Amino acid sequence: MIALTIAGSDSGGGAGIQADLKTFQELGVFGTTAITSLTAQNTLGVHGIFEVTTEFLKQQIDAVLSDFNVQAIKTGMLFSAELIEVIAGVMKMQSIPLVVDPVMIAKGGESLLKEEAVATLKTKLLPLTTICTPNIPEAEVLTGMTIHDEQDVEQAAKKILEFGVKYVVMKGGHLHGEFSIDTVYWKDGYFFMKTPRVQTKDTHGTGCTFSAAITAHLAKGLSIEEAIIEAKKFIHLAISTPLSIGNGHGPTNHFA
Ligand code: PLP
Repeated sequence: MIALTIAGSDSGGGAGIQADLKTFQELGVFGTTAITSLTAQNTLGVHGIFEVTTEFLKQQIDAVLSDFNVQAIKTGMLFSAELIEVIAGVMKMQSIPLVVDPVMIAKGGESLLKEEAVATLKTKLLPLTTICTPNIPEAEVLTGMTIHDEQDVEQAAKKILEFGVKYVVMKGGHLHGEFSIDTVYWKDGYFFMKTPRVQTKDTHGTGCTFSAAITAHLAKGLSIEEAIIEAKKFIHLAISTPLSIGNGHGPTNHFA
Protein backbone atom coordinates (compact mmCIF):
# COMPACT_ATOMS: atom_id res chain seq x y z
CA MET A 1 0.00 0.00 0.00
CA ILE A 2 1.67 3.17 -1.26
CA ALA A 3 0.48 6.78 -1.28
CA LEU A 4 2.01 9.94 -2.75
CA THR A 5 1.65 13.41 -1.28
CA ILE A 6 2.37 16.45 -3.45
CA ALA A 7 2.55 19.33 -0.98
CA GLY A 8 4.63 21.86 0.93
CA SER A 9 7.12 21.10 3.70
CA ASP A 10 6.35 22.46 7.20
CA SER A 11 9.56 22.70 9.23
CA GLY A 12 7.38 22.73 12.36
CA GLY A 13 6.20 19.21 11.56
CA GLY A 14 2.48 19.75 12.19
CA ALA A 15 1.17 20.35 8.67
CA GLY A 16 2.17 19.74 5.05
CA ILE A 17 4.39 16.89 3.90
CA GLN A 18 5.36 16.06 7.49
CA ALA A 19 1.73 15.68 8.63
CA ASP A 20 0.98 13.59 5.56
CA LEU A 21 3.89 11.20 6.08
CA LYS A 22 3.15 10.75 9.80
CA THR A 23 -0.50 10.04 9.00
CA PHE A 24 0.36 7.56 6.24
CA GLN A 25 2.75 5.78 8.60
CA GLU A 26 0.22 5.71 11.43
CA LEU A 27 -2.37 4.17 9.11
CA GLY A 28 -0.01 1.51 7.75
CA VAL A 29 0.67 3.00 4.32
CA PHE A 30 4.10 3.62 2.74
CA GLY A 31 4.40 7.36 2.04
CA THR A 32 6.19 8.94 -0.91
CA THR A 33 6.50 12.68 -1.57
CA ALA A 34 6.88 15.40 -4.19
CA ILE A 35 7.59 18.74 -2.52
CA THR A 36 6.15 21.92 -4.09
CA SER A 37 7.71 24.37 -1.66
CA LEU A 38 9.60 24.56 1.61
CA THR A 39 8.25 26.68 4.44
CA ALA A 40 10.22 27.98 7.42
CA GLN A 41 7.43 27.53 9.92
CA ASN A 42 6.57 26.84 13.55
CA THR A 43 3.43 26.97 15.69
CA LEU A 44 3.58 30.79 15.59
CA GLY A 45 3.39 31.12 11.82
CA VAL A 46 5.00 30.87 8.39
CA HIS A 47 8.28 32.83 8.36
CA GLY A 48 9.41 32.10 4.81
CA ILE A 49 8.50 30.21 1.63
CA PHE A 50 10.89 28.74 -0.95
CA GLU A 51 9.21 27.46 -4.11
CA VAL A 52 10.72 24.60 -6.12
CA THR A 53 10.98 24.89 -9.90
CA THR A 54 8.32 23.32 -12.13
CA GLU A 55 11.02 21.07 -13.62
CA PHE A 56 12.07 19.76 -10.23
CA LEU A 57 8.49 19.13 -9.09
CA LYS A 58 7.91 17.12 -12.28
CA GLN A 59 11.15 15.19 -11.72
CA GLN A 60 10.04 14.20 -8.19
CA ILE A 61 6.58 13.05 -9.33
CA ASP A 62 7.99 11.13 -12.29
CA ALA A 63 10.62 9.47 -10.10
CA VAL A 64 7.93 8.19 -7.72
CA LEU A 65 5.29 7.18 -10.26
CA SER A 66 7.72 5.44 -12.61
CA ASP A 67 8.95 3.12 -9.86
CA PHE A 68 6.18 2.60 -7.28
CA ASN A 69 2.69 1.20 -7.62
CA VAL A 70 1.00 4.24 -6.04
CA GLN A 71 -2.65 3.58 -5.13
CA ALA A 72 -3.70 7.08 -4.05
CA ILE A 73 -2.36 10.63 -4.41
CA LYS A 74 -3.11 13.79 -2.42
CA THR A 75 -2.23 17.42 -2.92
CA GLY A 76 -1.76 20.08 -0.26
CA MET A 77 0.02 23.44 -0.55
CA LEU A 78 0.48 24.04 -4.30
CA PHE A 79 1.47 27.71 -4.18
CA SER A 80 1.55 28.70 -7.86
CA ALA A 81 -0.39 28.27 -11.10
CA GLU A 82 2.73 26.89 -12.79
CA LEU A 83 3.14 24.10 -10.21
CA ILE A 84 -0.57 23.22 -10.49
CA GLU A 85 -0.20 22.95 -14.29
CA VAL A 86 2.59 20.38 -13.81
CA ILE A 87 0.43 18.25 -11.49
CA ALA A 88 -2.62 18.48 -13.76
CA GLY A 89 -0.44 17.42 -16.70
CA VAL A 90 0.63 14.28 -14.83
CA MET A 91 -2.82 13.48 -13.43
CA LYS A 92 -4.41 13.66 -16.89
CA MET A 93 -2.36 10.59 -17.84
CA GLN A 94 -3.30 8.62 -14.68
CA SER A 95 -6.31 6.88 -13.21
CA ILE A 96 -5.00 6.93 -9.61
CA PRO A 97 -7.56 8.46 -7.19
CA LEU A 98 -6.67 12.07 -6.33
CA VAL A 99 -7.55 13.85 -3.07
CA VAL A 100 -7.20 17.64 -3.32
CA ASP A 101 -7.04 19.64 -0.10
CA PRO A 102 -7.40 23.16 -1.55
CA VAL A 103 -4.93 24.75 0.89
CA MET A 104 -5.05 28.55 0.62
CA ILE A 105 -4.26 30.45 3.81
CA ALA A 106 -2.41 29.32 6.94
CA LYS A 107 -4.00 29.93 10.36
CA GLY A 108 -1.58 32.81 10.86
CA GLY A 109 -2.91 34.51 7.69
CA GLU A 110 0.00 33.75 5.33
CA SER A 111 -0.97 32.87 1.75
CA LEU A 112 -0.07 29.32 0.71
CA LEU A 113 -1.68 29.68 -2.74
CA LYS A 114 -1.14 32.77 -4.88
CA GLU A 115 -4.40 34.56 -5.71
CA GLU A 116 -3.92 34.11 -9.44
CA ALA A 117 -3.48 30.34 -8.98
CA VAL A 118 -7.09 29.83 -7.77
CA ALA A 119 -8.43 29.90 -11.33
CA THR A 120 -5.88 27.27 -12.43
CA LEU A 121 -6.82 25.08 -9.46
CA LYS A 122 -10.49 25.29 -10.45
CA THR A 123 -10.13 24.78 -14.18
CA LYS A 124 -7.15 22.40 -14.40
CA LEU A 125 -6.96 20.31 -11.22
CA LEU A 126 -10.53 20.06 -9.86
CA PRO A 127 -11.82 18.36 -13.04
CA LEU A 128 -9.31 15.55 -12.30
CA THR A 129 -10.16 15.31 -8.60
CA THR A 130 -11.80 12.34 -6.90
CA ILE A 131 -12.30 13.99 -3.49
CA CYS A 132 -11.92 17.69 -2.64
CA THR A 133 -11.85 18.72 1.03
CA PRO A 134 -12.45 22.48 1.42
CA ASN A 135 -13.06 24.20 4.74
CA ILE A 136 -15.62 27.01 4.71
CA PRO A 137 -13.22 29.87 3.82
CA GLU A 138 -11.73 27.76 0.99
CA ALA A 139 -15.20 26.86 -0.31
CA GLU A 140 -16.03 30.58 -0.30
CA VAL A 141 -12.98 31.40 -2.44
CA LEU A 142 -13.68 28.51 -4.85
CA THR A 143 -17.34 29.48 -5.34
CA GLY A 144 -17.34 33.25 -4.75
CA MET A 145 -20.15 32.71 -2.21
CA THR A 146 -20.50 33.79 1.40
CA ILE A 147 -21.44 30.77 3.49
CA HIS A 148 -23.56 31.29 6.62
CA ASP A 149 -25.64 28.15 7.08
CA GLU A 150 -26.33 24.61 5.90
CA GLN A 151 -28.25 25.74 2.80
CA ASP A 152 -25.24 27.79 1.71
CA VAL A 153 -22.97 24.79 2.36
CA GLU A 154 -25.12 22.64 0.08
CA GLN A 155 -25.22 25.26 -2.66
CA ALA A 156 -21.44 25.73 -2.51
CA ALA A 157 -20.90 21.96 -2.62
CA LYS A 158 -23.02 21.71 -5.77
CA LYS A 159 -20.94 24.46 -7.42
CA ILE A 160 -17.72 22.63 -6.53
CA LEU A 161 -19.10 19.37 -7.99
CA GLU A 162 -19.78 21.32 -11.19
CA PHE A 163 -16.03 21.97 -11.51
CA GLY A 164 -15.72 18.21 -12.13
CA VAL A 165 -14.93 16.96 -8.62
CA LYS A 166 -16.52 13.54 -7.91
CA TYR A 167 -16.95 13.93 -4.12
CA VAL A 168 -16.69 17.07 -2.03
CA VAL A 169 -16.21 16.99 1.74
CA MET A 170 -17.40 20.33 3.13
CA LYS A 171 -15.59 20.66 6.48
CA GLY A 172 -17.78 22.43 9.02
CA GLY A 173 -15.08 23.19 11.59
CA HIS A 174 -15.29 26.93 10.86
CA LEU A 175 -19.06 27.09 11.43
CA HIS A 176 -20.42 27.48 14.97
CA GLY A 177 -22.41 25.13 17.17
CA GLU A 178 -22.08 22.27 19.60
CA PHE A 179 -21.05 19.82 16.87
CA SER A 180 -18.48 19.86 14.07
CA ILE A 181 -20.46 18.68 11.04
CA ASP A 182 -18.78 17.73 7.78
CA THR A 183 -21.04 17.05 4.81
CA VAL A 184 -20.07 14.80 1.94
CA TYR A 185 -21.76 15.44 -1.40
CA TRP A 186 -21.60 13.67 -4.74
CA LYS A 187 -23.78 13.77 -7.85
CA ASP A 188 -26.43 11.43 -6.49
CA GLY A 189 -26.44 12.00 -2.76
CA TYR A 190 -24.90 13.21 0.47
CA PHE A 191 -24.32 12.27 4.10
CA PHE A 192 -23.35 14.09 7.30
CA MET A 193 -20.54 13.26 9.71
CA LYS A 194 -21.13 14.76 13.14
CA THR A 195 -18.68 14.84 16.07
CA PRO A 196 -18.78 16.93 19.27
CA ARG A 197 -16.88 20.20 18.76
CA VAL A 198 -13.53 20.14 20.59
CA GLN A 199 -12.33 23.45 22.06
CA THR A 200 -8.58 23.60 21.42
CA LYS A 201 -6.09 25.99 19.85
CA ASP A 202 -3.92 23.03 18.81
CA THR A 203 -5.33 22.67 15.32
CA HIS A 204 -2.29 23.36 13.15
CA GLY A 205 -2.31 20.86 10.30
CA THR A 206 -5.74 19.34 10.89
CA GLY A 207 -6.75 19.84 7.25
CA CYS A 208 -3.58 18.18 5.96
CA THR A 209 -3.97 15.29 8.38
CA PHE A 210 -7.63 14.68 7.48
CA SER A 211 -6.96 14.61 3.72
CA ALA A 212 -3.87 12.43 4.26
CA ALA A 213 -5.99 9.97 6.27
CA ILE A 214 -8.55 9.79 3.44
CA THR A 215 -5.69 9.15 0.98
CA ALA A 216 -4.18 6.43 3.18
CA HIS A 217 -7.51 4.63 3.48
CA LEU A 218 -8.03 4.83 -0.30
CA ALA A 219 -4.55 3.34 -0.79
CA LYS A 220 -5.59 0.50 1.54
CA GLY A 221 -8.53 -0.24 -0.75
CA LEU A 222 -11.44 1.23 1.21
CA SER A 223 -14.32 2.67 -0.79
CA ILE A 224 -14.48 6.47 -1.11
CA GLU A 225 -17.25 6.74 1.47
CA GLU A 226 -15.55 4.37 3.96
CA ALA A 227 -12.23 6.19 3.54
CA ILE A 228 -13.86 9.53 4.36
CA ILE A 229 -15.70 8.14 7.42
CA GLU A 230 -12.56 6.43 8.79
CA ALA A 231 -10.54 9.63 8.23
CA LYS A 232 -13.12 11.65 10.17
CA LYS A 233 -12.72 9.25 13.13
CA PHE A 234 -8.91 9.64 12.91
CA ILE A 235 -8.97 13.44 12.83
CA HIS A 236 -11.53 13.65 15.64
CA LEU A 237 -9.26 11.52 17.83
CA ALA A 238 -6.25 13.65 16.83
CA ILE A 239 -8.01 16.93 17.70
CA SER A 240 -9.33 15.46 20.98
CA THR A 241 -5.81 14.57 22.19
CA PRO A 242 -3.71 17.74 21.70
CA LEU A 243 0.04 17.52 22.26
CA SER A 244 0.31 21.10 23.57
CA ILE A 245 3.81 21.74 22.23
CA GLY A 246 5.17 25.01 20.82
CA ASN A 247 3.99 28.50 21.76
CA GLY A 248 1.23 29.07 19.22
CA HIS A 249 -1.32 26.89 17.43
CA GLY A 250 0.05 23.50 18.45
CA PRO A 251 0.50 20.75 15.86
CA THR A 252 -2.07 18.05 15.24
CA ASN A 253 -1.37 14.86 17.16
CA HIS A 254 -0.75 12.18 14.53
CA PHE A 255 -0.66 9.18 16.85
CA ALA A 256 -3.71 7.02 16.15
N1 PLP B 1 1.96 24.87 5.93
C1 PLP B 1 1.86 23.94 5.00
C2 PLP B 1 3.07 23.51 4.27
C3 PLP B 1 0.61 23.38 4.73
O1 PLP B 1 0.47 22.47 3.77
C4 PLP B 1 -0.53 23.78 5.45
C5 PLP B 1 -1.78 23.13 5.19
O2 PLP B 1 -2.85 23.58 5.21
C6 PLP B 1 -0.38 24.78 6.41
C7 PLP B 1 0.88 25.29 6.62
C8 PLP B 1 -1.53 25.33 7.14
O3 PLP B 1 -1.60 24.88 8.40
P1 PLP B 1 -2.70 25.42 9.38
O4 PLP B 1 -3.48 24.21 9.76
O5 PLP B 1 -1.96 26.01 10.53
O6 PLP B 1 -3.54 26.43 8.66
